[in-house]
Amino acid sequence: LEEQFRQAQKMEAVGRLAGGVAHDFNNLLTIINGYCEVLLTARPHTNSDRVAAEAIRDAGDRAAGLTRQLLTFSRKAIVEPQVLDLNEVVTRSAKLLGRLIGADVTLATAPSPDLAPVRADLNQLEQVVMNLAVNARDAMPHGGRLTIETRNVRLGEADVPAYPDLVPGRYVQLAVSDTGEGMTDEVKARVFEPFFTTKATGRGTGLGLAMVYGVVQTHGGHVGVYSEVGVGTTFKILLPATTEARPGNRPDEQAPVARGT
Ligand code: ADP
Repeated sequence: LEEQFRQAQKMEAVGRLAGGVAHDFNNLLTIINGYCEVLLTARPHTNSDRVAAEAIRDAGDRAAGLTRQLLTFSRKAIVEPQVLDLNEVVTRSAKLLGRLIGADVTLATAPSPDLAPVRADLNQLEQVVMNLAVNARDAMPHGGRLTIETRNVRLGEADVPAYPDLVPGRYVQLAVSDTGEGMTDEVKARVFEPFFTTKATGRGTGLGLAMVYGVVQTHGGHVGVYSEVGVGTTFKILLPATTEARPGNRPDEQAPVARGT
């Protein structure tokens, strides 16, 4: 618990700092990227001008992506909760992932039918799945299997001691597994720390899992990591199921459940 508290404090402090910097930085990037577009559409210009402007634009886009991550992680991003089906998030992410993983990594999705809906921010959840999946890919440089699964979970009184941040009730579980290199206990203990990375400079920011942690906390959920060196890693996320109906569902498709249970 002490460790959890320290982690929460650290996240809060770094989050505040990062959020402030990212916000100002984003405004500056808007100016840089905007004028760069102006340069690229202005004619005539030489080939080397164009190459230079394109390099600026690409770096600007990458920087914008990074500040977006920082903002999400610092919780300054607008949270737009809606009732949604986690299976749809998985399907959408899987489409994007098809282009990100190499041919030697197979992607398997196992969406559970009759999955309970969750109340969550679609973009943030998609980012969560992507961060976990990209880490999984990075852990399998020689290929392997990336699996994304969902299922309904019910936590009883007997189960909650294993999840100090949760109360008994209905949850939806998202599990992202890989058959990659796994991690040592030392690494495992630090993965959610902001800026902790074992990747080469320029390849890792150490913010991916800190962001995952932040988003899951904001949603009242839990994230756990199970890993074995040389075997692989599984990240499991539990999000509270909602009893609200999804908009667009026909009344006869709605489960007859009471609110607030
Ligand atoms: P980054 O990916 O930029 O390093 P993350 O916060 O996403 O930042 O991850 C932190 C560290 O956790 C990684 O550098 C890596 O050492 C470890 N890690 C995360 N996911 C996995 C995984 N699926 N398998 C092995 N190690 C992992």
